[in-house]
Parts: sequence; C-alpha cells; structure tokens
Amino acid sequence: MERSLETQVSQAVDAWLRWLPRWEPATHRGRIAPCRRCFGSPVLSAAGLGADVPHGVQHGLSTRIKTIVDHLVAEYTAVNLPMLQTELDQQAARNRARSYRPSEGLDPEFEGLPLDPEPVPGAPFLFTISGLAEEADAGVPALPPLSDDAKAALRQEVGLADDYANMVGREVCAILLHHRLRIQQAIAQYVEPQIEAMLEELTRSLDVPFDPNDSPPL
Ligand SMILES: [Zn+2]
Repeated sequence: MERSLETQVSQAVDAWLRWLPRWEPATHRGRIAPCRRCFGSPVLSAAGLGADVPHGVQHGLSTRIKTIVDHLVAEYTAVNLPMLQTELDQQAARNRARSYRPSEGLDPEFEGLPLDPEPVPGAPFLFTISGLAEEADAGVPALPPLSDDAKAALRQEVGLADDYANMVGREVCAILLHHRLRIQQAIAQYVEPQIEAMLEELTRSLDVPFDPNDSPPL
C-alpha cells in the first residue's frame, strides 16, 4: 500500500529537518545563475522558504519534494501513458549504457546542481566533470528517430504527465502549508544565528583599519 502523500511530504520534511543542523554557509563564491529548481519555486514559497533563505537550505528541501512528485508521475506514466513509458525506458537503457554518470546517486543537497564550479574568467579548467559526462554520452548511439505521428502522440502524453505533475504539485503545496511552523522554527534555530554571525564578522572586519605592518591582503 502506497504511503499517503501527506505521510510522504511529512517524512521529506522530517529528513530535511534532520539534515539542517549540519548546514553551514558556503564559503566559496556563490553561483551566478539562479537554480532552476529553487528559483521562484511554489513548493518553497508554500514551505515558507523565501528568497531570504540561503540556497543550500532551500535546495535540500526542494529536491526531497521533487523526488516525491517525480515518483508519483512515474507511477502514473507507467499505468496510463504507454508511449511516454516506452520512450523513457529507451532513454533509461541508453543512460545505463554510458560509462560515466557523475550526476547519479548524489545526496539531495547536491542533486541537480551544476557538476562543476563557475569558471573564473581567463582561467579555464583543464577538464570538467560535465565535459567528461558529455564525452561518455557521445559514445552511446542515439535513439532511433520517431515518425511525425508518434511525435504528436508522445507530445500529447507528455502534456498529460505535466498536468498530473502540476496537480500533485498543488496538493504538495497545500500539505506543506501545515509544516511551515516547524520549518520556520528550524530556520530560526539553525540558519539565522549562522547568518547573523557571518554578518557580524563582516562588519567587524570592515571596522578594523588595515595595519600597515600586516602583509598585504591577498
Ligand atoms: Zn536549488
């Protein structure tokens, strides 16, 4: 018997709450492009994790919720959308044929993020993880092309899968509203003090005039 959606969302929030005490502000340079999964996410706004919350904190929750929605859409597709299911099976088989799959099996906090850091202008990487993955992908033969009729039918099934995903997403958002309070309490306990400490540290370092005997700042 499938666990109810309420239970699944509640357990995803539980798992995120267990992880949150280990969160630390990122010390490296932030990403330039906004995360496609988190930016403007209705799931995050239902959870009360607005743009003022650090992205790492948001991403751990949005990924856990996405996993629930993806799983339900996969079940719906398997039962109701045979063409889309066949296409997905073929793509999955093709993916398994790749020799290098760096984006699989990651923790929710890392899943869906770019595989490589932002390049620094003028200092190109010798190789990138995404570049290696692309090479592995090019080594696997492409799927056979679809006829126009098959494409149209497939598009229709993709539309139905989208509709279903949107419906589940709306239900998930309604459920998340009931978890806002404990999410907010955890942010106040584990995230806000670290951000305040960081800002305080920053203010202090700006207040101190440079000592001419110090070595020059890097
Ligand atoms: Zn994200």
